[in-house]
Amino acid sequence: MTRRTRKILVVVAVGLALVTLPVLGGLAYNYVDTLKQSRSRVRDVAGTVARQVAQVLLVAEAALADVAFDARNGCTPELIREFRNKTIAHPTIQGMGLITPGNYLACTTFGMTDPPVRSDADNFIVSRGALVWFTPPRRNLYAPGQSFTAEYALKDGHRLALALAPEVLFGLMEADIIGSDGNITVAMQGIPFAELGSPADPAADDLVETRDVGLYDATVTAKASRRWALARWRENALVTGLLGALAGGVLAVGGAHYARGRFSLASELREALNNKEFEIWYQPVIDLQRGHCAGAEALIRWRHPERDLIPPDLFISMAEDSGIIIPMTRWLMQRVGEDLGPLLKANPGLHIAINLAPAHMSDHGIVEDARTTLGRYGIQPSQILFELTERSLIDDPACREVVKALGDLGTEVAIDDFGTGYSSLAYIDKFKLNYLKVDKAFVSVIGTQSPTVRLTDIIIGMATSLGLKTIAEGVETTEQAQYLRQRGVKYAQGWHFSKPLNIDDFLAFVRDNNKPIDTGAAQETA
Ligand code: C2E
Ligand code: CA
Ligand code: CA
Repeated sequence: MTRRTRKILVVVAVGLALVTLPVLGGLAYNYVDTLKQSRSRVRDVAGTVARQVAQVLLVAEAALADVAFDARNGCTPELIREFRNKTIAHPTIQGMGLITPGNYLACTTFGMTDPPVRSDADNFIVSRGALVWFTPPRRNLYAPGQSFTAEYALKDGHRLALALAPEVLFGLMEADIIGSDGNITVAMQGIPFAELGSPADPAADDLVETRDVGLYDATVTAKASRRWALARWRENALVTGLLGALAGGVLAVGGAHYARGRFSLASELREALNNKEFEIWYQPVIDLQRGHCAGAEALIRWRHPERDLIPPDLFISMAEDSGIIIPMTRWLMQRVGEDLGPLLKANPGLHIAINLAPAHMSDHGIVEDARTTLGRYGIQPSQILFELTERSLIDDPACREVVKALGDLGTEVAIDDFGTGYSSLAYIDKFKLNYLKVDKAFVSVIGTQSPTVRLTDIIIGMATSLGLKTIAEGVETTEQAQYLRQRGVKYAQGWHFSKPLNIDDFLAFVRDNNKPIDTGAAQETA
C-alpha cells in the first residue's frame, strides 16, 4: 500500500467516523434516554394510580369515621339514611353496612337485612386496625363488578363496613399509556386485589416500578414490557437515522445543554443567595372568627437581575434537589426576623408561617436555626408556624425526631396542602401537629356542585376532632370565607383577603388592622 493510498484510507475512515459516530452516538444516547424516559413514564403512572388509591381510601376512611357516631345505637333509620347519603355522595362507595358481633350483616345502604346475613368473606387485618376483605376470595384477582370492603371497628364489637369498587381506583387511568401489554396492579399487604391491563407475566424482563400507598399498607405496581420501550426507541431511532449526523449532533448538543441548564440553575441559585437576590413576600392570614389579620405566610421569590420576579414553583424543586434549600431557608428565617422581629415582639398574637422542605426533616439543623433566630429577635416560639407537606412527613425516626424537637422548642407545626398527597389524617396524627392547612383544591369547590365539597367538610370535621386547628388556603370569594367560618375554620388566606405583599405593604396591612375584613359574617347578620 502506497503512502497515498494509506492517506486516502485514513481520510475516508476519519470522514466515515465523523458521519457515523454522531449517528451511533445519537442512537446510543437515544436508547439510554428512551429507556430512562420509559422508566420515568412507568413510575409516573404508578404514582398517579397510588394517589388515586390513596384518595379513594381516604374517602372510605372519612366516610366510615363520619357515620361511626350514628352507628352507636345500632341499625336505626338515621344510620341507614347516613349510609345512603354517603353512597350517593361518593361514586367510589358502593354501599355501607353494620356488622354485629358474630359476623352478621344487620343493615346496609339498602335497608335492614332481614334476617341478618352471616359474612363468610375471607377477612384479614390491615394497618391501623381496619379490616379489609375481598369479594371474591383474595386468591382471585379483581374482575369488573367485584368490590372490596373496608371496615371500622366500633367500641362494642360492632363493625362498620364499606364496599368500594376497585374500577374507580383507576378512574381516569389508561393502562395503555404504558403500552398495550402494560399492567397495573394494586396490592394490599402484598396481596394483589385489582389489576388493569394485560395480565402480568412474572417471567418477563419488564420495566417495573412500585409505589407505596404506605399508610394503607397498599402498593401500586406498574409494568411495561421492554418491547414497548424498544418500540418507542425504534420510533425515535428512525428519526435519528434520517436526520443522521445532524440529529446526533443536535441530541449531543441538546443533552449537553440540558445538563448545563440543570447544572447552571443550581449554581445560579447559589450565586443568587450570595448576591441577596431573593425576596420574601408575606401573604396575610386572617382570623376568620374575629375578622382581623393574625399573621402571614412567608413566600420566597427570586428577583432575577435579567428577568422578572421568578415565582418559587420554578426554582424550589431545584433548590430541594441540590440541597440549596437548607441555606436558603436559613437565610429566609433570618430575614423574617429582621423584617418582622419588632412587629412580632410587640404583637404576641401574630404568627408567621415558614415553609419547610423534605430535606429539613433529616437533620436537626433547622431546629438550631430556629432557636438562633428566635433568640436573636426576641420572637416567641409559638409565633412561628412551620409548614410541612405530606412529602416531608415520612414515617422514619429522624423525621419524627425533628418534628418532635420543633414542638419541644415551642414552635407550631402545620401539615400543608392537606388532601393532595397520600396521607390519611390518622397517619399525620402520629406526628402531633398543631395545624392542618386545607388545600386550595378543597376550597375552590365550595359553592359548586362538585362532590368534593363533602370531602372538604369531612377534612374539616376530622381535623377538628383530632384537635388540629385549621387554616384554609386559596380563599377567593366571600361565599368561601363564610362557608369555612361557619364550619369553625380558624384561619384563612387567599386573594379574597390579600395577595402576597412585599414587606412594606404587609406592615401597612397590619397597621390597618381595624379596617373591616370581609369574612362573610356581615351577610349573615344583614
Ligand atoms: P404554598 O405553600 O401552598 O403557598 C401558597 C401558594 O398559593 C402561594 O404561591 C400563594 O401565592 C398562592 N395563593 C395564595 N392565595 C391564593 C389564592 O387565593 N388563589 C390562588 N390561585 N393562589 C393563591 P407561591 O408564592 O407561588 O408559592 C408556591 C409554592 O412554593 C408554595 O405553595 C410553597 O410550596 C413553595 N414555597 C414558597 N416559598 C417557599 C419557601 O420559602 N420554602 C419552601 N420550601 N417552599 C416555598
Ligand atoms: Ca405553605
Ligand atoms: Ca399550601
